[in-house]
Amino acid sequence: MEKQLELYDITIIGGGPVGLFTAFYSGMREMKTKIIEFLPFLGGKVPYFYPEKIIRDVGGIPHVSGEKFTENLIEQAKTFDPEIVLGEQVTEMEKLEDGTFLLTSKSGARHHTKTVVLATGYGTLKSVKLTIPGAELFEDSNLHYSIRKLESYRDKHVLISGGGNSAVDWANELEPIAAKVSLVYRKSAFTGFESNVTRMMNSSVDVFNPYELTELEGKDGRIASAFIRQVEDGSIHQIPVDAVIVNHGFQIDLGSIAGWGLTMKQGSIQVDESMHTSIPGIFAVGDIASYSGKLQLIAGGFNEGPIAVNHAKLHISPKDELETIYSTNYAPLTEKYE
Ligand SMILES: Cc1cc2nc3c(=O)[nH]c(=O)nc-3n(C[C@H](O)[C@H](O)[C@H](O)COP(=O)(O)OP(=O)(O)OC[C@H]3O[C@@H](n4cnc5c(N)ncnc54)[C@H](O)[C@@H]3O)c2cc1C
Repeated sequence: MEKQLELYDITIIGGGPVGLFTAFYSGMREMKTKIIEFLPFLGGKVPYFYPEKIIRDVGGIPHVSGEKFTENLIEQAKTFDPEIVLGEQVTEMEKLEDGTFLLTSKSGARHHTKTVVLATGYGTLKSVKLTIPGAELFEDSNLHYSIRKLESYRDKHVLISGGGNSAVDWANELEPIAAKVSLVYRKSAFTGFESNVTRMMNSSVDVFNPYELTELEGKDGRIASAFIRQVEDGSIHQIPVDAVIVNHGFQIDLGSIAGWGLTMKQGSIQVDESMHTSIPGIFAVGDIASYSGKLQLIAGGFNEGPIAVNHAKLHISPKDELETIYSTNYAPLTEKYE
Protein backbone atom coordinates (compact mmCIF):
# COMPACT_ATOMS: atom_id res chain seq x y z
CA MET A 1 0.00 0.00 0.00
CA GLU A 2 1.17 3.56 -0.70
CA LYS A 3 3.25 4.90 2.19
CA GLN A 4 1.66 8.34 2.06
CA LEU A 5 -1.80 7.07 3.08
CA GLU A 6 -2.58 8.33 6.56
CA LEU A 7 -4.33 5.87 8.85
CA TYR A 8 -7.57 7.15 10.44
CA ASP A 9 -9.35 5.64 13.44
CA ILE A 10 -12.74 6.15 11.89
CA THR A 11 -13.86 7.00 8.35
CA ILE A 12 -17.47 8.13 8.02
CA ILE A 13 -18.89 7.60 4.54
CA GLY A 14 -21.61 10.21 4.03
CA GLY A 15 -21.72 13.79 5.28
CA GLY A 16 -25.48 14.01 5.92
CA PRO A 17 -26.87 15.09 9.31
CA VAL A 18 -26.11 11.74 10.94
CA GLY A 19 -22.59 11.47 9.49
CA LEU A 20 -21.86 15.03 10.67
CA PHE A 21 -23.02 14.44 14.24
CA THR A 22 -21.13 11.11 14.29
CA ALA A 23 -17.97 13.05 13.34
CA PHE A 24 -18.51 15.45 16.24
CA TYR A 25 -18.93 12.62 18.73
CA SER A 26 -15.96 10.78 17.28
CA GLY A 27 -13.88 13.88 18.00
CA MET A 28 -15.16 13.83 21.59
CA ARG A 29 -13.76 10.30 21.87
CA GLU A 30 -10.43 11.56 20.47
CA MET A 31 -10.64 9.39 17.37
CA LYS A 32 -8.77 10.54 14.26
CA THR A 33 -11.74 11.13 11.98
CA LYS A 34 -12.39 11.50 8.26
CA ILE A 35 -15.71 12.20 6.49
CA ILE A 36 -16.06 11.36 2.80
CA GLU A 37 -19.05 12.88 0.99
CA PHE A 38 -20.11 12.29 -2.61
CA LEU A 39 -21.80 15.67 -3.08
CA PRO A 40 -19.76 18.89 -3.33
CA PHE A 41 -21.41 20.07 -0.07
CA LEU A 42 -22.24 18.69 3.38
CA GLY A 43 -25.67 18.10 4.91
CA GLY A 44 -27.10 15.22 2.85
CA LYS A 45 -30.83 15.19 2.18
CA VAL A 46 -31.49 18.34 4.22
CA PRO A 47 -29.87 20.93 1.92
CA TYR A 48 -30.53 18.71 -1.12
CA PHE A 49 -34.29 18.33 -0.69
CA TYR A 50 -35.49 20.86 1.85
CA PRO A 51 -33.14 23.76 2.68
CA GLU A 52 -36.07 26.11 3.32
CA LYS A 53 -38.40 23.67 5.09
CA ILE A 54 -38.86 24.14 8.83
CA ILE A 55 -37.71 21.13 10.87
CA ARG A 56 -39.69 20.76 14.10
CA ASP A 57 -38.90 17.28 15.40
CA VAL A 58 -35.38 17.45 16.78
CA GLY A 59 -35.27 17.63 20.58
CA GLY A 60 -34.46 21.05 22.03
CA ILE A 61 -34.97 22.86 18.71
CA PRO A 62 -38.64 23.94 18.39
CA HIS A 63 -38.14 25.02 14.78
CA VAL A 64 -35.23 25.61 12.45
CA SER A 65 -34.87 25.90 8.67
CA GLY A 66 -33.05 23.09 6.88
CA GLU A 67 -30.35 25.56 5.88
CA LYS A 68 -29.70 26.88 9.41
CA PHE A 69 -29.81 23.35 10.83
CA THR A 70 -27.17 22.27 8.29
CA GLU A 71 -24.97 25.27 9.11
CA ASN A 72 -25.12 24.35 12.81
CA LEU A 73 -24.37 20.68 12.12
CA ILE A 74 -21.34 21.58 10.02
CA GLU A 75 -20.04 23.97 12.68
CA GLN A 76 -20.47 21.26 15.34
CA ALA A 77 -18.90 18.55 13.14
CA LYS A 78 -15.82 20.72 12.60
CA THR A 79 -15.24 21.18 16.37
CA PHE A 80 -12.41 18.64 16.43
CA ASP A 81 -11.13 19.36 12.89
CA PRO A 82 -11.96 16.11 11.13
CA GLU A 83 -10.58 15.59 7.64
CA ILE A 84 -13.42 16.39 5.22
CA VAL A 85 -13.33 15.07 1.66
CA LEU A 86 -16.04 16.34 -0.70
CA GLY A 87 -17.06 15.16 -4.17
CA GLU A 88 -15.88 11.56 -3.74
CA GLN A 89 -18.04 8.45 -3.97
CA VAL A 90 -16.59 5.52 -2.04
CA THR A 91 -17.08 2.39 -4.10
CA GLU A 92 -14.62 -0.30 -2.99
CA MET A 93 -13.66 -1.72 0.41
CA GLU A 94 -10.81 -4.12 1.09
CA LYS A 95 -10.18 -5.58 4.54
CA LEU A 96 -6.42 -5.87 4.98
CA GLU A 97 -4.61 -8.62 6.87
CA ASP A 98 -4.06 -6.39 9.92
CA GLY A 99 -7.85 -5.80 10.16
CA THR A 100 -7.73 -2.21 8.82
CA PHE A 101 -9.66 -1.15 5.74
CA LEU A 102 -8.65 0.32 2.42
CA LEU A 103 -11.44 2.33 0.83
CA THR A 104 -11.34 3.39 -2.80
CA SER A 105 -13.42 6.10 -4.42
CA LYS A 106 -14.77 6.14 -7.96
CA SER A 107 -12.04 8.68 -8.78
CA GLY A 108 -9.37 6.17 -7.68
CA ALA A 109 -8.53 8.04 -4.43
CA ARG A 110 -7.71 5.68 -1.54
CA HIS A 111 -8.31 6.00 2.19
CA HIS A 112 -6.87 3.90 5.01
CA THR A 113 -8.89 3.45 8.19
CA LYS A 114 -9.20 1.25 11.26
CA THR A 115 -13.02 1.37 11.25
CA VAL A 116 -15.75 2.48 8.87
CA VAL A 117 -19.10 4.10 9.67
CA LEU A 118 -21.58 3.97 6.81
CA ALA A 119 -23.80 7.06 7.03
CA THR A 120 -24.77 6.95 3.39
CA GLY A 121 -28.52 7.44 3.64
CA TYR A 122 -29.93 5.22 0.91
CA GLY A 123 -26.94 6.13 -1.23
CA THR A 124 -25.77 8.91 -3.48
CA LEU A 125 -28.39 11.48 -4.50
CA LYS A 126 -28.73 12.48 -8.14
CA SER A 127 -31.53 14.46 -9.79
CA VAL A 128 -33.09 12.94 -12.89
CA LYS A 129 -31.86 15.28 -15.62
CA LEU A 130 -33.74 16.67 -18.64
CA THR A 131 -33.05 14.65 -21.77
CA ILE A 132 -33.45 17.70 -24.06
CA PRO A 133 -30.24 18.00 -26.12
CA GLY A 134 -28.08 20.91 -24.91
CA ALA A 135 -30.02 21.37 -21.66
CA GLU A 136 -26.83 20.84 -19.63
CA LEU A 137 -25.40 24.05 -21.12
CA PHE A 138 -27.84 26.06 -19.01
CA GLU A 139 -27.10 24.32 -15.70
CA ASP A 140 -24.66 27.07 -14.70
CA SER A 141 -27.17 29.84 -15.46
CA ASN A 142 -30.95 29.40 -15.15
CA LEU A 143 -31.75 25.68 -15.35
CA HIS A 144 -32.07 24.28 -11.82
CA TYR A 145 -32.81 20.85 -10.37
CA SER A 146 -33.43 22.10 -6.84
CA ILE A 147 -34.30 25.34 -5.09
CA ARG A 148 -31.61 26.71 -2.81
CA LYS A 149 -33.12 30.17 -2.13
CA LEU A 150 -36.75 31.03 -2.86
CA GLU A 151 -35.84 34.73 -2.79
CA SER A 152 -33.61 34.35 -5.85
CA TYR A 153 -36.80 33.89 -7.91
CA ARG A 154 -38.43 37.14 -6.75
CA ASP A 155 -40.23 38.91 -9.61
CA LYS A 156 -39.07 36.27 -12.12
CA HIS A 157 -41.02 34.21 -14.65
CA VAL A 158 -40.46 30.65 -13.46
CA LEU A 159 -41.37 27.44 -15.25
CA ILE A 160 -41.50 24.28 -13.16
CA SER A 161 -41.47 20.87 -14.86
CA GLY A 162 -42.84 17.96 -12.79
CA GLY A 163 -45.99 16.93 -10.97
CA GLY A 164 -44.93 15.19 -7.76
CA ASN A 165 -45.04 16.56 -4.22
CA SER A 166 -41.88 18.65 -4.49
CA ALA A 167 -42.84 20.24 -7.83
CA VAL A 168 -46.30 21.19 -6.52
CA ASP A 169 -44.77 22.43 -3.23
CA TRP A 170 -42.30 24.60 -5.11
CA ALA A 171 -45.09 26.07 -7.26
CA ASN A 172 -47.04 27.01 -4.11
CA GLU A 173 -43.96 28.43 -2.35
CA LEU A 174 -42.90 30.48 -5.39
CA GLU A 175 -46.36 31.78 -6.32
CA PRO A 176 -46.33 34.77 -3.92
CA ILE A 177 -42.67 35.57 -4.69
CA ALA A 178 -42.26 35.15 -8.45
CA ALA A 179 -43.82 37.44 -11.08
CA LYS A 180 -45.36 34.36 -12.73
CA VAL A 181 -45.20 30.63 -12.07
CA SER A 182 -46.09 28.07 -14.75
CA LEU A 183 -46.08 24.35 -14.08
CA VAL A 184 -45.83 21.71 -16.81
CA TYR A 185 -46.71 18.08 -16.09
CA ARG A 186 -46.91 15.31 -18.65
CA LYS A 187 -49.73 13.40 -16.92
CA SER A 188 -53.42 14.29 -16.57
CA ALA A 189 -53.58 13.59 -12.80
CA PHE A 190 -51.23 14.92 -10.13
CA THR A 191 -49.60 12.61 -7.59
CA GLY A 192 -48.80 15.24 -4.91
CA PHE A 193 -50.74 15.71 -1.64
CA GLU A 194 -54.35 16.58 -2.57
CA SER A 195 -54.42 19.72 -0.37
CA ASN A 196 -51.28 21.07 -2.05
CA VAL A 197 -52.62 20.32 -5.54
CA THR A 198 -55.91 22.06 -4.69
CA ARG A 199 -54.02 25.07 -3.34
CA MET A 200 -52.00 25.29 -6.56
CA MET A 201 -55.08 24.91 -8.76
CA ASN A 202 -56.80 27.73 -6.87
CA SER A 203 -53.79 30.03 -7.14
CA SER A 204 -52.39 32.13 -9.97
CA VAL A 205 -50.05 29.30 -11.06
CA ASP A 206 -50.55 28.50 -14.78
CA VAL A 207 -50.90 24.73 -14.82
CA PHE A 208 -50.23 22.94 -18.12
CA ASN A 209 -51.14 19.25 -18.04
CA PRO A 210 -50.83 16.94 -19.84
CA TYR A 211 -47.90 18.84 -21.34
CA GLU A 212 -44.18 18.13 -21.59
CA LEU A 213 -41.13 20.31 -21.92
CA THR A 214 -39.61 19.71 -25.37
CA GLU A 215 -37.16 22.53 -26.13
CA LEU A 216 -35.23 25.31 -24.44
CA GLU A 217 -34.36 28.41 -26.42
CA GLY A 218 -31.30 30.30 -25.21
CA LYS A 219 -30.05 33.85 -25.43
CA ASP A 220 -26.64 34.96 -24.07
CA GLY A 221 -26.12 31.58 -22.36
CA ARG A 222 -29.46 31.67 -20.52
CA ILE A 223 -32.82 30.08 -21.26
CA ALA A 224 -35.07 32.79 -22.70
CA SER A 225 -38.09 30.66 -23.52
CA ALA A 226 -39.33 27.12 -23.19
CA PHE A 227 -41.41 25.13 -25.67
CA ILE A 228 -44.04 22.79 -24.30
CA ARG A 229 -46.07 20.17 -26.17
CA GLN A 230 -49.63 19.13 -25.44
CA VAL A 231 -49.26 15.37 -25.03
CA GLU A 232 -52.62 14.46 -26.62
CA ASP A 233 -52.91 16.77 -29.65
CA GLY A 234 -49.19 17.58 -30.11
CA SER A 235 -49.74 21.36 -30.21
CA ILE A 236 -46.70 23.44 -29.20
CA HIS A 237 -46.72 26.52 -26.95
CA GLN A 238 -43.88 28.93 -26.24
CA ILE A 239 -43.44 30.36 -22.72
CA PRO A 240 -40.98 33.18 -22.00
CA VAL A 241 -38.99 32.34 -18.84
CA ASP A 242 -36.33 33.73 -16.51
CA ALA A 243 -35.71 30.34 -14.89
CA VAL A 244 -36.63 26.69 -15.39
CA ILE A 245 -36.82 24.35 -12.40
CA VAL A 246 -37.00 20.63 -13.08
CA ASN A 247 -38.27 18.08 -10.59
CA HIS A 248 -38.46 14.76 -12.41
CA GLY A 249 -37.48 12.77 -9.35
CA PHE A 250 -34.23 11.53 -7.91
CA GLN A 251 -32.06 8.48 -8.28
CA ILE A 252 -30.74 7.20 -4.99
CA ASP A 253 -28.12 4.53 -5.44
CA LEU A 254 -26.13 2.68 -2.78
CA GLY A 255 -23.89 1.57 -5.65
CA SER A 256 -21.26 -1.07 -5.09
CA ILE A 257 -21.53 -0.83 -1.26
CA ALA A 258 -24.50 -3.21 -1.66
CA GLY A 259 -21.99 -5.78 -2.94
CA TRP A 260 -19.52 -5.53 -0.04
CA GLY A 261 -20.99 -8.65 1.57
CA LEU A 262 -22.91 -6.83 4.32
CA THR A 263 -26.17 -8.38 5.48
CA MET A 264 -28.91 -6.32 3.85
CA LYS A 265 -32.64 -6.11 4.43
CA GLN A 266 -34.87 -4.45 1.83
CA GLY A 267 -32.08 -2.15 0.63
CA SER A 268 -30.89 -1.20 4.14
CA ILE A 269 -27.93 -2.54 6.09
CA GLN A 270 -28.74 -4.76 9.04
CA VAL A 271 -27.04 -3.72 12.30
CA ASP A 272 -27.02 -5.07 15.87
CA GLU A 273 -27.56 -3.01 19.04
CA SER A 274 -24.02 -1.62 18.76
CA MET A 275 -24.65 -0.45 15.16
CA HIS A 276 -22.19 -3.12 14.02
CA THR A 277 -22.87 -4.56 10.56
CA SER A 278 -22.14 -8.17 9.68
CA ILE A 279 -18.51 -7.19 8.91
CA PRO A 280 -16.49 -6.56 12.10
CA GLY A 281 -15.15 -2.98 12.10
CA ILE A 282 -17.88 -1.65 9.79
CA PHE A 283 -20.82 0.17 11.39
CA ALA A 284 -23.94 1.74 9.90
CA VAL A 285 -26.02 4.67 11.17
CA GLY A 286 -28.84 6.92 9.99
CA ASP A 287 -31.28 6.11 7.19
CA ILE A 288 -29.21 3.20 5.82
CA ALA A 289 -29.13 1.29 9.13
CA SER A 290 -31.87 -1.25 9.73
CA TYR A 291 -33.02 -2.84 13.00
CA SER A 292 -36.31 -3.67 14.63
CA GLY A 293 -38.28 -0.50 15.41
CA LYS A 294 -36.02 1.74 13.32
CA LEU A 295 -37.29 5.30 12.69
CA GLN A 296 -35.91 7.10 9.67
CA LEU A 297 -35.64 10.42 11.45
CA ILE A 298 -32.70 12.68 12.14
CA ALA A 299 -33.24 12.47 15.91
CA GLY A 300 -32.89 8.66 15.84
CA GLY A 301 -29.65 8.88 13.86
CA PHE A 302 -28.22 11.26 16.46
CA ASN A 303 -28.33 8.41 18.99
CA GLU A 304 -26.95 5.82 16.58
CA GLY A 305 -23.79 7.83 15.78
CA PRO A 306 -22.44 7.88 19.37
CA ILE A 307 -23.31 4.19 19.81
CA ALA A 308 -21.34 3.32 16.65
CA VAL A 309 -18.39 5.51 17.68
CA ASN A 310 -18.17 4.00 21.17
CA HIS A 311 -18.15 0.50 19.71
CA ALA A 312 -15.69 1.48 16.98
CA LYS A 313 -13.37 2.65 19.78
CA LEU A 314 -13.82 -0.69 21.52
CA HIS A 315 -13.15 -2.48 18.23
CA ILE A 316 -9.82 -0.66 17.88
CA SER A 317 -8.90 -1.01 21.53
CA PRO A 318 -10.95 -3.75 23.22
CA LYS A 319 -9.66 -2.75 26.68
CA ASP A 320 -11.11 0.77 26.44
CA GLU A 321 -14.09 0.98 28.74
CA LEU A 322 -17.26 2.22 27.07
CA GLU A 323 -17.65 5.71 28.47
CA THR A 324 -20.54 8.10 28.42
CA ILE A 325 -19.15 11.58 27.94
CA TYR A 326 -21.11 14.81 28.36
CA SER A 327 -19.95 17.70 26.21
CA THR A 328 -20.42 20.01 29.20
CA ASN A 329 -17.71 18.36 31.27
CA TYR A 330 -15.40 17.44 28.40
CA ALA A 331 -12.35 19.62 29.12
CA PRO A 332 -11.18 20.38 25.55
CA LEU A 333 -14.64 21.76 24.74
CA THR A 334 -14.80 23.87 27.89
CA GLU A 335 -11.45 25.41 26.99
CA LYS A 336 -12.49 25.96 23.36
CA TYR A 337 -15.68 27.85 24.19
CA GLU A 338 -14.59 29.68 27.36
C1 LIG B 1 -38.53 15.98 1.87
C2 LIG B 1 -38.00 15.38 3.16
C3 LIG B 1 -38.32 15.98 4.37
C4 LIG B 1 -37.85 15.43 5.57
N1 LIG B 1 -38.18 16.04 6.75
C5 LIG B 1 -37.68 15.55 7.91
C6 LIG B 1 -37.94 16.19 9.16
O1 LIG B 1 -38.66 17.20 9.23
N2 LIG B 1 -37.43 15.64 10.31
C7 LIG B 1 -36.62 14.51 10.28
O2 LIG B 1 -36.15 14.07 11.33
N3 LIG B 1 -36.35 13.89 9.10
C8 LIG B 1 -36.84 14.39 7.93
N4 LIG B 1 -36.56 13.75 6.75
C9 LIG B 1 -35.69 12.55 6.79
C10 LIG B 1 -34.23 12.98 7.01
O3 LIG B 1 -33.85 13.91 6.00
C11 LIG B 1 -33.33 11.76 6.99
O4 LIG B 1 -33.74 10.87 8.01
C12 LIG B 1 -31.86 12.18 7.22
O5 LIG B 1 -31.41 13.05 6.18
C13 LIG B 1 -30.97 10.95 7.28
O6 LIG B 1 -29.64 11.40 7.44
P1 LIG B 1 -28.41 10.51 6.98
O7 LIG B 1 -27.20 11.29 7.37
O8 LIG B 1 -28.59 9.12 7.47
O9 LIG B 1 -28.55 10.39 5.39
P2 LIG B 1 -28.59 11.48 4.23
O10 LIG B 1 -29.15 12.77 4.68
O11 LIG B 1 -29.23 10.78 3.09
O12 LIG B 1 -27.05 11.72 3.88
C14 LIG B 1 -26.29 10.68 3.34
C15 LIG B 1 -25.11 11.28 2.58
O13 LIG B 1 -24.25 10.22 2.19
C16 LIG B 1 -23.72 10.52 0.91
N5 LIG B 1 -23.27 9.26 0.30
C17 LIG B 1 -24.06 8.20 -0.03
N6 LIG B 1 -23.30 7.21 -0.56
C18 LIG B 1 -22.02 7.67 -0.55
C19 LIG B 1 -20.79 7.11 -0.98
N7 LIG B 1 -20.71 5.87 -1.50
N8 LIG B 1 -19.65 7.86 -0.85
C20 LIG B 1 -19.70 9.12 -0.32
N9 LIG B 1 -20.86 9.69 0.10
C21 LIG B 1 -22.00 8.97 -0.01
C22 LIG B 1 -24.90 11.15 0.18
O14 LIG B 1 -24.44 11.96 -0.90
C23 LIG B 1 -25.55 11.99 1.30
O15 LIG B 1 -25.07 13.32 1.31
C24 LIG B 1 -37.03 14.27 5.55
C25 LIG B 1 -36.68 13.67 4.33
C26 LIG B 1 -37.15 14.23 3.14
C27 LIG B 1 -36.77 13.58 1.83
